[in-house]
Amino acid sequence: MMNPKENLSNPSSIENSSIKNSGMENSCQKLMQEETDYVLKNYARYPIVLERGEGVFLYDTEGKEYLDFLCGISVSILGHRHPRIISALEEQAKKIIHSSNLYYNPNSIRLAQKVSEISFPGKTFFCNSGTEANETAIKLARLYGNQNDKPKIITLKNSFHGRTMGSLSLTGQSKYQQNFGPLLSNIIHIERNNESELKREMDDSVSALFLETVQGEGGIHPLEKSFVQKARELCTHYKALLICDEIQSGMGRTGRFFDYQHYSIEPDAFTLAKGLANGIPIGLIHIQNSPAKLFIQGSHGSTFGGNPLATRVALEVLSVIQESLLEQILVQGRFLYETLLQLKDSYSQIIEIRGRGLMWALELEGIDAKDLLDACHREGLLINAIGTNIIRLLPPFIITEKEIRLFETKIKKAFSHLLTQKRN
Ligand SMILES: *Cc1c(COP(=O)(O)O)cnc(C)c1O
Repeated sequence: MMNPKENLSNPSSIENSSIKNSGMENSCQKLMQEETDYVLKNYARYPIVLERGEGVFLYDTEGKEYLDFLCGISVSILGHRHPRIISALEEQAKKIIHSSNLYYNPNSIRLAQKVSEISFPGKTFFCNSGTEANETAIKLARLYGNQNDKPKIITLKNSFHGRTMGSLSLTGQSKYQQNFGPLLSNIIHIERNNESELKREMDDSVSALFLETVQGEGGIHPLEKSFVQKARELCTHYKALLICDEIQSGMGRTGRFFDYQHYSIEPDAFTLAKGLANGIPIGLIHIQNSPAKLFIQGSHGSTFGGNPLATRVALEVLSVIQESLLEQILVQGRFLYETLLQLKDSYSQIIEIRGRGLMWALELEGIDAKDLLDACHREGLLINAIGTNIIRLLPPFIITEKEIRLFETKIKKAFSHLLTQKRN
């Protein structure tokens, strides 16, 4: 067996080997080689190294500017280098970063209070990511199910709830689940917006129904109002918990603090993560007071969860959104939607536009989403491709009309490059 230290002890040997000889001098290519040597190969990355950001722009190591219409998958929701986030981080880092859940932490209490204020009175548990928040939600469903003889959980096909074993079992996309079985048992996946299937599967044996009211990773599919309201009605009737995954759609992304608020319903619990602390890892679940009682001392925990730094920054994020951005998101969201409609008129390759607020998808036909994405990268525009036919747009909440016009210019250039290329 090879001694791993042989490789690790002399990193300069990498430089001396293939890279220099093959003329790969560019810093990104050097990183690509080093990463191949040392980092698990579970991501396909673009050959871009983002070094710094400012507002809605990012800059790579070559100094190239990119308009950020992705936010690191809806994480940098207040953009980059936001002065309020920098101050909150600096002030808190100077005091204390981590204390442990063995002691009281005022920041986490204030954040939980804030979450109650902007949603419904309830109890919050803090963790460090989306999938962990959903793991907690699954534990809630099992606690409740085991006490009430309700073994089943229902979730939607094409959903995304994370990649740890529990959340992966909820995620309704086989491409993520392949080769990782056995998954959790008693999880049923139904078609979105299919009320009759929902009615058929719902009964007294169901402990929880999980919904992303806008399927994000699945391609930005907002659920129909009647389906979500029927889901609420059936959950109430059969005493099942309705749990909304707001990890991507929450924090104001769709113009309300939480996307479920568009449906005039209240879930029994919801999960948050992604942009909650603008890039500092944090996740949470917020649970109505009555089911929250199922968790007792020792029933769940996290070492990092709710640490003073992450909760301080999350409080700042929610305050900034509450003070100045919710209305903005709706206004700019409408402007972005109108811009996308015009694009659709100009390019027959765009066959559908879906979304709300600042969460949009373009469905394509006749061109590959990955080719359009590459062309956008060349124009200095960061977007996301889902599969081969969907473009996902998740711009930061601070986006202005001027920057949406810049997006329009850039994506049009990308389209025309791509279409001329295709013709030749
Ligand atoms: C991203 C995402 C998750 C998983 O979050 P991680 O922090 O990557 O674990 C879960 N649910 C939804 C809806 C998401 O968008």
